[in-house]
Amino acid sequence: MRIAVLGSGIIGVSTAWWLNQAGHDVVVVDRQQQAGMETSRANGGQISVSYAEPWANPQAPGKLFKWLLRADAPLVFRLQPDLRQWAWGLSFLRECTPARVERNVRALVAMAQYSRRTLQEMRRELGIEYDQQERGILNFYRNMREFEHSQQMAEVMRDHGVDRRIVSADEVVAIEPALAGARHTIVGGDYTPEDESGDAFLFTQELARMASQAGVEFRYGTQLSRLVAAGGSIHGAELIGPDGQYELLRADAYVAALGSHTPAFVRPLGVACSVYPAKGYSATFRIIDPDAAPVVSLTDSEHKVVYSRLGNRLRMAGTAELGSSTRALSTARCEQMSRLARELFPSALDFDTVRHWSGLRPSTPSNVPLIGRARISNLYLNTGHGTLGWTMGVGSGKALADLVSGHRPEPDFPFLG
Ligand SMILES: Cc1cc2nc3c(=O)[nH]c(=O)nc-3n(C[C@H](O)[C@H](O)[C@H](O)COP(=O)(O)OP(=O)(O)OC[C@H]3O[C@@H](n4cnc5c(N)ncnc54)[C@H](O)[C@@H]3O)c2cc1C
Repeated sequence: MRIAVLGSGIIGVSTAWWLNQAGHDVVVVDRQQQAGMETSRANGGQISVSYAEPWANPQAPGKLFKWLLRADAPLVFRLQPDLRQWAWGLSFLRECTPARVERNVRALVAMAQYSRRTLQEMRRELGIEYDQQERGILNFYRNMREFEHSQQMAEVMRDHGVDRRIVSADEVVAIEPALAGARHTIVGGDYTPEDESGDAFLFTQELARMASQAGVEFRYGTQLSRLVAAGGSIHGAELIGPDGQYELLRADAYVAALGSHTPAFVRPLGVACSVYPAKGYSATFRIIDPDAAPVVSLTDSEHKVVYSRLGNRLRMAGTAELGSSTRALSTARCEQMSRLARELFPSALDFDTVRHWSGLRPSTPSNVPLIGRARISNLYLNTGHGTLGWTMGVGSGKALADLVSGHRPEPDFPFLG
């Protein structure tokens, strides 16, 4: 079949790769000049299977209310006169019940585990390099109540077959000695040795290069303007090419992997797509003292920020603002990130050359992505990966390629259609 994959972030590129491997003729369209230039460009780098937890949980409504008035809160709901945001917010509240949380965790862990296995196989078979670290993820706590709550969550994750170990403050420092200077602020942690980290952008670009060599056609600098439907199926994708001319791209099937921008193209066709942008920030520091910088990927639970070592760089990422649809940087957020990094690793990083970035996570109320066939027969969705697009990326691509090819995907996951 000829298949048009719309979007070349981690999700679009991995979908294109696996469709090509399944023998399909694949064309990828993206408005940017290269793959991975939007939300997959500078994320936190964690392959965090063991923390594949939804934002929506029984504690979330109380915390959100507390954070509503704080400009530097880790999760902010910026209320807008936007019906879509209100509908998303109501659905989010519905996902906070224990039964829904249990169901969502099960789906997220299943896809994340499958994706990590797929990533490991791809590393072995393709020799793909992306500043990866297989040193686990260490979550450290500075607040006893948060630490105690995390122990309940760790138990839930262990029930799903995840190796998440509770560790003391001294063990935190033994696992990552770069935290020694902050020992007095830490009350404990949990450590997941099977988790990994790496640069999602490097991976996406490298996989796009390999896919192109394998015969996938990439059409960069090309904007999707609408999907044209007729008689219950997609008739073509209307594109504006680099020369400004319109063209109708025809294919047998279409995969919408447009991240946060997916709803704008599928909703006019009557396809439900509860994906809303959750803006996040990252800061990338050059490492000047490698021994003083962490190697194990870290999560500072109190501030909801993560740190991943990417070669000679340290990537820090976090915060979520629901209701900010532009990628403008916030000076307060950027300064806060630099301050937190300086407190933890004062001598390790070059603070003068820090590179700030922001991206829009394509978020669903349940955190569970939308993968599978839409109500329109030849339209597939692969979007809504929110905080876990890197963690679930290659597995989602492979699963979608299976569905398009008429095979049952391996993970036990609530696929669409
Ligand atoms: C601060 C931050 C930290 C994060 N940390 C982690 C982490 O540690 N671990 C993890 O697993 N995940 C993390 N994520 C989430 C992860 O980055 C995303 O889930 C993932 O990148 C989404 O990939 P995507 O391919 O769906 O979207 P994108 O990468 O945004 O790709 C969508 C593509 O569609 C293209 N497009 C959009 N509209 C059009 C159009 N009209 N025409 C043509 N092309 C179009 C865009 O150019 C883009 O290339 C983080 C996200 C953020 C913001």
